[in-house]
Amino acid sequence: MEYVGNVIRPPSEADALILQVTVGCSYNKCTFCGAYKDVSFTIKDEAAIIRDLQFAGQYCRNHRRVFLADGDVLILSQKRLVRLLHLIRQYLPWISRISLYGNARAIRGKSHDNLQELKTLGLDRVYMGLESGCDAILQHVKKGETAETMIAAAKKIRDSRLFLSVTALLGLGGVALSKRHAEETAKVLTAMAPNQIAILTLMPLANTLLGEEVLAGKFLLPNPQEILTELSLLIERLRDVRCQFHANHTSSYLPLSGRLPKDREALLAALGKARSGAVSLVPEQRRAL
Ligand code: SF4
Repeated sequence: MEYVGNVIRPPSEADALILQVTVGCSYNKCTFCGAYKDVSFTIKDEAAIIRDLQFAGQYCRNHRRVFLADGDVLILSQKRLVRLLHLIRQYLPWISRISLYGNARAIRGKSHDNLQELKTLGLDRVYMGLESGCDAILQHVKKGETAETMIAAAKKIRDSRLFLSVTALLGLGGVALSKRHAEETAKVLTAMAPNQIAILTLMPLANTLLGEEVLAGKFLLPNPQEILTELSLLIERLRDVRCQFHANHTSSYLPLSGRLPKDREALLAALGKARSGAVSLVPEQRRAL
């Protein structure tokens, strides 16, 4: 398979075959994200994609899932996406699940009929980055969206009966907005009604504007205990969601996973033990993005 630059996939796509159809992110302005800072957004040639599909058809026959990389493949035109899904069917007819990252801007560019068509052709799952439900934080990190536009985008995905996984980023409000971040993110996640919530913990990178703010002392990062408090508050406020809940990313201080609302009390109890020191946290040097 021919991969260009950093190829990133959600943790729940660990078993998927990664088919890179774009390089980078067409937006690439979020101040906390260093994933694609060194590459310009490009769409890969169909010939290169077909070479990968032919290779996968020969050597990756055990994979049942495909993840389409990079950052926001849903931004491709409907015509390109339809062609791509047909090609996957043609070369890898045994694939049962196709997933991709889709930001709110890309989702806005698709009609309900477009999304339905993609679903009919095999698209199953959209991973969307909310990061925070707090508009002040979204503005600070230049997400280019508001809580309202994120909710509208999520509704469109759910109305098309696609599986929606939404990511939020602990610590993104810094110490100053930690409580507001947890409360407002819980509120927006509830309104988005995703099938899955994935929680990551901020790890500021040197090649990002937010990383520079941290180094300059302009953004105060919550310490591990404050991050756990933020996560507890978030879970406490997620009272009306029915979804899978994962906070077990490699950036996490305390890997947790469960189903809401069924496992809420168990998740809060585990957090309570960690906050009291009865359970050790993942050491800083073992955390990763
Ligand atoms: S967080 Fe997502 S939308 Fe923002 S720059 Fe990174 S890949 Fe692009």
